[in-house]
Amino acid sequence: MYEGPVQDLIDELGQLPGIGPKSAQRIAFHILDAPVEDVNRLADTLRRVKATVRFCEVCFNVSQEERCKICRDPRRDQSCICVVEESKDVVAVERTREFRGLYHVLGGAISPIDGRGPGDLRIRELLTRLADSTVTEVILATDPNMEGEATATYLSRLLLPMGLTVSRLASGLPVGGDLEYADEVTLGRAFEGRRHLGGTLT
Ligand SMILES: [Zn+2]
Repeated sequence: MYEGPVQDLIDELGQLPGIGPKSAQRIAFHILDAPVEDVNRLADTLRRVKATVRFCEVCFNVSQEERCKICRDPRRDQSCICVVEESKDVVAVERTREFRGLYHVLGGAISPIDGRGPGDLRIRELLTRLADSTVTEVILATDPNMEGEATATYLSRLLLPMGLTVSRLASGLPVGGDLEYADEVTLGRAFEGRRHLGGTLT
C-alpha cells in the first residue's frame, strides 16, 4: 500500500479492463515520472471524451453528434445492417473496407454468467430499426466466442421470421477471440464468405 493519492491512482487504474495490480502500479509510476504538461493533457482528454462524445441515436456507435458519421453518410447502403457487440468492432469492420452498409451496436453479448440477458442489449432498438422494410439484410458479426454465438443464435431466431436475409460471419476467425483482434484480411474473408442462415439471397 502506498500513501494517499498514489494508492488512489493505482486503485483507479486497476478498475480499467485488462489492467491488473502490477500494470496499475507500473502506469501509476509512469504518470508520476511524466512531465506535468503530459499528465494535464491526459487529464483534459479524459474529461473532454466524457463531455463531448455520445452515442449515435440510430446505431449506438460512439459519435460527436446525434447521428454518427456512418449513419449520416448517404452513400452507405441503407438496406443492410451489420450487428456488432461494441463500437470498437465497427472500427475493425470498417478497416476491412468490405462492408458499405450500416451498423447496429448491441452494447455487449448475452452472457448468463455475467447476468446479461437479451433485455440488457439494444435488441429492442434494432427491431425498431427493422420495422419499416428499408432493411432487407442483417449480418450478425458478434464475436466468435460462446457469448457471441449465443447472441447470434438468439437474434437469428428473432429475425428470420421477419422475412429478412440473415447471415453470420464465416468461420476462419479465431474461435474464442474478439472481433477487434482479427486482422483485416481474415475479417475481410469472413465477410465475403459469410454463412447464410435464411431469408432471400440478394
Ligand atoms: Zn450511427
